[in-house]
Amino acid sequence: MAKVKLITRFFEIEDANLLPIYEANGGYAAARKVVTESWPPDKIFSTVKAANLRGLGGAGFPAGMKWSFVPKDAEGPKYLVVNADESEPGTFKDRHIMLKAPHLLLEGAIIAACSINAEDIYIYVRGEYYQPTQSLERAIEEAEDAGFLGKNIFGSHKNIKVHLHRGAGAYICGEETALLSSLEGFKGWPKLKPPFPAVKGLFSKPTIINNVETLSYVPIVIDKGPEYFAKLGVERNGGARLFGISGHVKKPGVYELSLGTPMRELIFDHAGGVRGDRKLKAVIPGGSSCPVLTADEIDVNLDFDSLAKIGSMLGSGGMIIMDETTDMVKVLLRICRFYAFESCGQCTPCREGTGWMTRIMERVASGEGTSQDLDDLYDVAGMIGGNTICPLGDAASLPVLSFVKKFRAEFEAKVSAAKVPAASGKKSAGEEI
Ligand code: SF4
Repeated sequence: MAKVKLITRFFEIEDANLLPIYEANGGYAAARKVVTESWPPDKIFSTVKAANLRGLGGAGFPAGMKWSFVPKDAEGPKYLVVNADESEPGTFKDRHIMLKAPHLLLEGAIIAACSINAEDIYIYVRGEYYQPTQSLERAIEEAEDAGFLGKNIFGSHKNIKVHLHRGAGAYICGEETALLSSLEGFKGWPKLKPPFPAVKGLFSKPTIINNVETLSYVPIVIDKGPEYFAKLGVERNGGARLFGISGHVKKPGVYELSLGTPMRELIFDHAGGVRGDRKLKAVIPGGSSCPVLTADEIDVNLDFDSLAKIGSMLGSGGMIIMDETTDMVKVLLRICRFYAFESCGQCTPCREGTGWMTRIMERVASGEGTSQDLDDLYDVAGMIGGNTICPLGDAASLPVLSFVKKFRAEFEAKVSAAKVPAASGKKSAGEEI
């Protein structure tokens, strides 16, 4: 397994964000091929399915399969929505694509739109991403002027328009149904599924929502062929992805590696190892909502299935490295505060539970907690996951469960011995998993 340069090659070419430079480096050849050769939707799905391209926003759902869920007989418009609301703490890869290779995203979006016969593409960009938005605006203008977007793209009878929309900074709008509500002009509140957006999405029409990075790999799959792409990765996890590594490493940044690369290789070879040559303590593998790993658990391969097998997630590929000096109680407090702040408040377990967890963690972190607090924290977290409308409930509870289980001694050390209540006969937090 090694470093690859499929998306990141454009990061290294000066001015690759500009259309002439992007085109001079093979840009828009894939979209031109799909459009001028009138590839039918089935051919596009099957090519992307054969490449084993997974959704790289976090869920890891196979991209080609998702596109095939749009009902063929649906009447009226269909939409492609690009989720560029990159808000998961620790995640910053899509920002690089939008800044340095915006045409790659647009090209992938054009191909995906062709696969579902959509004439409108909506790109929902995180509100705080001012420069990436500017970069995309310029790229859209250039593509329109060149006839790659708008009416009769690439001289065909196809029309595709891109609409760019900036969010207002709410984390929850990265959840697909909340994003659609926000695009429609309503509060960014998630909705229960089904119906799934592929059947009833934006403006109640069939809609496919894909992450920036997922779409950016689509032109590469078409250009190089699905077999080439699939073979770069491992079984069921084709190609490569961008890993954003941050925290206590010597060389934080964005690295593009084949799926299935050992986590140890990313941390110690590519990112230079732990800052100050200290000992590694913990790793959050794919954004703050993923269960934390201890230093003993990093001999795992970086693909969706391997991380799932050890009880965590590859998520968004935003990896946070923590060295031996890290106070895990403080880290968890910060994570709890984040999710409590970002909860939309629709469902009781999430609205109340994230608040309770935060208040308990504040007591524990300030040295005023009790061992009962740890038990309560664990119980509350266990009652949120799986009982909410959207995955924010799980995102808030999984870190709590994993931090308390794996770093229990550190949490207990913060709890004042004087306040430990008499034994209740109740199981201690973390004992049951
Ligand atoms: Fe809102 Fe939380 Fe319920 Fe999601 S889980 S809908 S964020 S209250």
